[in-house]
Formats: sequence, C-alpha cells, structure tokens
Amino acid sequence: MIAVKSKSLARLLARCISTFLSASVCVGAIAEVASPVLAINDATAKSAVTVRALRGSVSVLEGAGGNIGVLSTQQGQLLVDAGIAVARPRIEAALKGLGGGAPKWLINTHWHWDHTDGNPWVAELGATIVSHERTRMYLAKRTNVIEWGYSFPALPETGLPKVVFQTSKTMEFGGETIHLKHFGTGHTDGDAIVHFVNADVLFMGDIWWNGHYPFIDYGAGGDIDGMIRWTREALAIAGPKTLIVPGHGPAGGRAQLAEYLDMLIDVRTRVARLKGEGKSLAQVLESQPTQRYDAKWGAFVLSPYFFTQLVYMGV
Ligand SMILES: [Zn+2]
Repeated sequence: MIAVKSKSLARLLARCISTFLSASVCVGAIAEVASPVLAINDATAKSAVTVRALRGSVSVLEGAGGNIGVLSTQQGQLLVDAGIAVARPRIEAALKGLGGGAPKWLINTHWHWDHTDGNPWVAELGATIVSHERTRMYLAKRTNVIEWGYSFPALPETGLPKVVFQTSKTMEFGGETIHLKHFGTGHTDGDAIVHFVNADVLFMGDIWWNGHYPFIDYGAGGDIDGMIRWTREALAIAGPKTLIVPGHGPAGGRAQLAEYLDMLIDVRTRVARLKGEGKSLAQVLESQPTQRYDAKWGAFVLSPYFFTQLVYMGV
C-alpha cells in the first residue's frame, strides 16, 4: 500500500477508475491494463474458492467475484449470485461438495458481472434465474460502467432471468422460505436483498461491503442516499441473531451493519456540508472527509478518494 504524498498523486487517485482495487493496485492497473474488470478477472481465475457454512443448509462461497450464497436441499440447490465465469470449475467443485444436487434456482442481487457472469452456465445446469426487473433489463443489453472503463455485452438469452419482480417476492423451496425485497435506488436501481427466513440469513448483495467502502453505480441508478435507506431497511428486517452476508467481505451481524450505516451517514453529512459551502471535488478530497474511517474501510478495496468522489456525486 502506498501513502499519498503529493497533490498530483491524490488527483490521480481521485480519477482512479478502480472500484475493487486498492490505491496501489489501481495505479498499476491504470498503467498496465485497460480496465480493472480485466485485472479482476485475471485475479479471480487464479483465486481459490472458499466454502463457509453459515447456518442450517445455507453456506457462502468466497473468492469467485461477489459472494455466492448456497441453499442445499433435498430438492436441489438455490444460489444467490453466480460469481465470475472464470471461477466456474472451482465454484462447481464447491457446489458438489455441499450436496443437494444441481442448482434449481439462481437469484441475482443486481446486474454487475462479478455477480452474474456465471448466469449462463448455472442456467445450463437447469437453474431458473430470478431478479428485479431492472437487473434483467441491464443484463439484456450492452451496459457501460464509466468508472470501470468497461462496456459489458448483453448476456446470452440463456443467462437472462426468467422470473422478475418489482418490490417483493416470496419463494418456498426445499423447506425454506425466501423473501426478496427491493427498496428503490441503492447500489443500482435493480438491487434485491434475499432473506432465508427459517435459517435467518440475510444476503445484502452490494448494498453492504463489510470492511470496505462500497461502490455505488450512479450510471445504473444507484445513489448514496439509497445506500443509506437500504441499509436502514435491512436493519429493520434483521433480528439479533440474523447472519448478514455482504456482497464483498465476510458475513457479520447487526452490529457490523449498524457500524457501516453510521459510517455512510457521517461521510455523507461531511461531504454534503463541504459541497454546500461551495467546495469543489478537489477541495473536498483535500480535506479528507473520510479520514477517521480510512484505516478500517479504505485500506483494501475502494480508495478513500474514490469513495469520497462517489458520495460527492450524490449530495
Ligand atoms: Zn455491484
């Protein structure tokens, strides 16, 4: 990790298009590859996939892009997100190890490729894909993410969701009740959070990044105030024993999610005050409104500068 020692470097980092890379990797990525998406694909192709049992028949796979939730039942498996396609051999091996037969259902929490790139092969195994209607819309067309410097082609028809919902949906599968909820604009405008009611495990998609500043996809309708609203809604759903699974990072509970909410609100308040005083983005970055949180939240994935920029865009 490099320290920020000059204004020019700070400006470079502020412009850094990385969303998943640390500041040092991001600078390297700008020099060496066209998009962080390619660097992430390369890294994921070599990454181990780790299986963590959560509660009951619910597990999470880490290391294949976004976290992948797995419910294993006698009727087959239900997945939450499909990861990046280059990780397919390791994901398949992990799924077989969990038992329960082939995936029957796949729920996409949102359209980003690190959660949906595996849709086609999971569908080939027989899974029906479910998502919010806006997520299907993005997946069915070429979609550009300016901050990542990358344009994602439409998924093939086989990889598109066949079942869509608008505000909520309840599924019954393998003895589990699954609630899907949508609360408007958040990380994108097509997010879903997924609550396994009996196991009491809540999958947040990229509304929550546990231990990392979150990306917010303004180009796909996301905004900082939506991230705050969704996090409040999730805390209203979660009980004291609910296991809460982020899109990136380890599972946690209410205390960790509440700490994340406090961070989002405080950074939003600070950036809004500075912007309200007429400060430019460069001036806001210079004043380091995230400083008190950077050691905990900004040391690994999104740089503090990039997150500040995302908040600035939305206040
Ligand atoms: Zn995402």
